[in-house]
Amino acid sequence: MKIICIGHNYAAHNRELFGGYKGNPVFFMKPDTALLRNNAPLYYPEFTQDLQYEVELVLRIHRVGRCIAPTFASRYYNEIGIGIDFTARDLQRTCKEQGLPWECCKSFDYSAPVSATFIPIANFADLKNINFSLTLNQNVVQQGNTADMIFDFDHIVSYISNFVTLKMGDLIFTGTPAGVGAVKIGDTLAASIEGQEMLRTSIK
Ligand code: MG
Repeated sequence: MKIICIGHNYAAHNRELFGGYKGNPVFFMKPDTALLRNNAPLYYPEFTQDLQYEVELVLRIHRVGRCIAPTFASRYYNEIGIGIDFTARDLQRTCKEQGLPWECCKSFDYSAPVSATFIPIANFADLKNINFSLTLNQNVVQQGNTADMIFDFDHIVSYISNFVTLKMGDLIFTGTPAGVGAVKIGDTLAASIEGQEMLRTSIK
């Protein structure tokens, strides 16, 4: 399986870190070794001094597809979970300044905690109105609603599939809302969809 992540897909976060970028969706990938499951802790990596959280809704792909038209994209994902796109922000700053790829700051081991359970699409009344949030030591630090996405789920799935064949079990991180920030050893993060806690991880 592979993990595909969409960058700056919420307007306020886009302004926060990317100066209001306008253009096609931006995506990057994390390897399967980035997965962190079952609420396991994350050990603070030695190569960064600025490890940051980005809470994101995660789509699970359940059919093989390529060059999927937007109208048919909803047939290719069947569940939504939640994850954290951990980012070594100091390394990312250097990569951006130098125009370098992002693997070292985005794709490292255990940089992608994902909820143990996913919610079937059918359980959501409206995919364009899903609330999700992240707490840091029980204080809410990020709150998002899919209504604020620049590119909706169908657009994302369709766009990615023009470049990369999607396969059963692939995960798509759909972008983070505003409020990203740093963690330190001893912190605990908890992510919820519609107020229901789905994922928890501590920094060790
Ligand atoms: Mg992200």
